[in-house]
Order: sequence, then C-alpha cells, then structure tokens
Amino acid sequence: MAASPRLSRVIVVVLDGLRADAVPLFHMEHLTRLARRGAATFSAQTVAPSVTAAAMGSLLTGVRPADHGLVSDRFSVPRPRAALQPLPRLLAAQGIATHAFLAALPFGYGALATRLARTLGVTRATFRGKDSTGILAASRASLEREEPGFFLFHWPDADRAGHAHGWTSRAYAAAVRRTDESLGMLDLVSGASRDPGTLLVAMADHGGGGAVARDHDSAHPHDRTIPLVLAGGRVVSGELAPLSSLLDVPATVAWAMGADVPQEYAGRALVEAFHPTSGAGRVGQSAAGHERYRFVAAS
Ligand SMILES: [Zn+2]
Repeated sequence: MAASPRLSRVIVVVLDGLRADAVPLFHMEHLTRLARRGAATFSAQTVAPSVTAAAMGSLLTGVRPADHGLVSDRFSVPRPRAALQPLPRLLAAQGIATHAFLAALPFGYGALATRLARTLGVTRATFRGKDSTGILAASRASLEREEPGFFLFHWPDADRAGHAHGWTSRAYAAAVRRTDESLGMLDLVSGASRDPGTLLVAMADHGGGGAVARDHDSAHPHDRTIPLVLAGGRVVSGELAPLSSLLDVPATVAWAMGADVPQEYAGRALVEAFHPTSGAGRVGQSAAGHERYRFVAAS
C-alpha cells in the first residue's frame, strides 16, 4: 500500500439522510466546492440495512452491519460476530484522540451513549446542540485551535425533515441548505480543505425517499446511494471510483493517520485520492494550485 501521509487531523462529517441528488437539486454550494476541489463521487454506496445506527456502526468499526451487530435503526451496545477493532481504539493505540460531536440526547440516553463511546474507544463524546448549527458551535473552539485527532460529526437535520415531511420536500430542502451552511462554516473555522495536515470527509449515512416516501431502509438507489467527498491540502482533485463505499472511509482514516488497516476491515483505503508521500520535505503545491506549503516528512 502507498505510504501514509500521516495526517494530524481528520474530520468526518456525516450528513444524515443526505440523498446524493439533493446536492445539485438544492444547490449545496459548499459541498459542491469541496467536491470540485477534492476527490468525490455522488454514487458511493452505504451499507445494508441503510439506517443510521448500522452505518455509524460500520464507520466506527470498519465492518459490515452483520459483523458489528447494529442491524436496526436502534443504537445499543453491539453484539459483534467476532472481535472488533473499532477505529477510535486503533487510533488511540497510535496516541491519536477521537472526538465525537452529536446532537443533544433525549433524557435518559446518556448512560447508553457513554457506554457505547467507551466501548468504541472514543476519547471525548459531546452531545450538544439540536441541529448542525448547534453541534458545530459545540466543536468550534477545538476546530479553531486546530486540535489534532479524529473528529466525527453527526448532523441529523436532513434525515429529520425527510421523516417528517418527505425527502425533497421544502422542509427537507431547507434542512439540506442549513447543513451546507454549517459545512461551509466548519471549513472556514477549521481551515480544513486548505490544510495539508487535514483530511475533511463529507458524506451521508444513507439517502431516503426511495422505496418509501418518508423512510430510507431499502435497496432502492435513492436510499443506498450517498455522496462521498474528500477534501484537504493533500487530496488530489478528481473523481473517486463510482462504487466507492461508506466502508472505505474507516480504512481511509486509519491509513491517512498512519495506523495499519486491520485485515477485518471490509473497505479499502482510498489512497488514489492523495498526493504521493515521496519527496518528503520539499516544497509543493496544494490541490488548489495556488497555495504553497511544505510536505511533512512521512516517517
Ligand atoms: Zn432516518
């Protein structure tokens, strides 16, 4: 495998229920800009079943839902088929912290969430804010300080509007635009997309409105197809393979941060999205082509 760029910071933003065709339909200008400058596909695939708990479980463990055990849309402490190597634990072994930022929980869910975070090896889980704007606000100081580590965001806005009013409804469109504004703000405060030490991944956990107007648990392309965008100073501008998978993300994060990708991981590191690491120490150009920076030594 290609040498790891050993990035110090990876930010993964999960836009819950963002259907791939919503990106052009509702003019997500920030996501489109990141995709144009970065490596992207709007026909990536999520896992089966295409529900949030299963997809987030796969993002955090690198394996399919059947193997990590979260196979319904309910969060619980998983009963995996085999020993898991959760991504946060893998990173912690390399001295890398994981920070998760999610919406405030309904009363009574705190204990389960804390147990789940501890099982996965998450260093700090923050449940604050009701939508992408509030969740981002809770993380802002860490992002501005350019704290190193793996940052995982879950933004529920679009999924909630989809269940309440239907995918591609006016309420859904408004929620999609709000998450796009939040994404633009996140990039602005963190400097992620121009920073050679940072990888920013923006993606969905599933789509919606495929088989059922207000749901997303089916094999219909509207439910299974997701946008997947990789941005950052070391990312090469281009198209990702159209059948790239949500399962490729944990492998990519592990590899990009210098951890060995476990054999059990079902996906592959998207190494083609990165400038080669050779020539460490020389002055190069970012993907944007107008910002000069120095490569960080690879080993
Ligand atoms: Zn949902």
